[in-house]
Amino acid sequence: MLPRSIDLHTHTTHSDGSDTPEELVGKAARAGAVALAITDHDTGSGLAEGKRAARQFGIEFIDGIEISAEYSPGTMHLLGYCIDSAAIESDLVELKHARDQRNPQIAARLQELGMDIPYEEVQALAGGEMVGRPHFARLMIQKGYVGSIQDAFNGFLAKGAPAYVEKLRLSPENAIDLIHRAGGVAVLAHPYQLKLPSLDAVDDLAAELAGLGLDGIEAVYSRHSQEERSAYSEIARRHELLITGGSDYHGTYKPDLSLVAGKGDLDVPYHLLEEIKARASLRAR
Ligand code: AMP
Ligand code: ZN
Ligand code: FE
Ligand code: FE
Repeated sequence: MLPRSIDLHTHTTHSDGSDTPEELVGKAARAGAVALAITDHDTGSGLAEGKRAARQFGIEFIDGIEISAEYSPGTMHLLGYCIDSAAIESDLVELKHARDQRNPQIAARLQELGMDIPYEEVQALAGGEMVGRPHFARLMIQKGYVGSIQDAFNGFLAKGAPAYVEKLRLSPENAIDLIHRAGGVAVLAHPYQLKLPSLDAVDDLAAELAGLGLDGIEAVYSRHSQEERSAYSEIARRHELLITGGSDYHGTYKPDLSLVAGKGDLDVPYHLLEEIKARASLRAR
C-alpha cells in the first residue's frame, strides 16, 4: 500500500452500507488510510457523524455524496466531493420521494413473484434510513429465496430483471448542477457501469459532460482492471478533468470489496485529493 492511501468512495448504514459512519471511519484508520470520503446514495445524513469520528481517529474527512442520473443502457452515478451537506439536503427531497414511490412497487413485484418480502420488513432492515435495492436483496437471502446479493440482483433486482422498477432520476446536467450548487466537485463514478461499447464512446461522453461542468472521472475504481484505470485516466487528462478513486465499499452488501484496498489491488494516492480540494476552493470563489 502507498504510505498515504485514501478512499474516496464508501457507503454507510445511511444508505446501503453495513457499517455506521463511525465504524467505517475506524476501519479506514485501522486500514492505514489518511483520508476518507463517505459517499452515500442521495443523502448526506451520515456526514456529521463521519466527520466527528474522523477527528477522533485523526484522519482527514471529505463530505461526499453519490447521485444517480438518468442514463441508458447502463447506470450513471455522479459523485460530489467537498459538498456543503446542509445546503444539499433540501435539493435531495425530490430524490428521496422518488425512492419512496419506487420501493413499495419493488416489494409488490416480489410478492407477485411468490416471495414474502413485506416492505415494512425491508424498511426495518434498513434501520429507518434510505432504502436501496441491496436491502431487498438482504431480506431475500434471509428468507432463503436467493443465495447471495448478486443472485438477487441477477435474478430479480437488476435493470431489466422481473422485479426492477424505474425511479425518477435527475438528468446528468441537473445532477452536476445540484453538486455545484452545494459547493461541490462533480465526478463521473465508475465509468465501466455506463456499459458503453467502446472507449471512444466514453471519450465522447466525457467531452459532453465536461461541457456541462463535470470536474472529474473516477478512473481508479476497485472493479476497473489496471488497463481500464489507465484508459479512463487518459480520457480524464484529455478533457482536463480530475482523476479520482475509491473502493465503493458497502460492507456486507458488497462482500468482495474491501475498504481502501478494493479487490486487493487498489491504491488511491493522496495527491488526487489535493487536486479535488484545489478545484473545490476555486469553485467557492
Ligand atoms: P438503488 O439506489 O436502490 O437503485 O440501488 C443501488 C445499489 O444497488 C448500489 O449499491 C448498486 O451498486 C447496487 N446495484 C445496482 N445494480 C446492481 C447489479 N446489477 N448487481 C449488484 N448490485 C447492483
Ligand atoms: Zn450502494
Ligand atoms: Fe455507484
Ligand atoms: Fe457507490
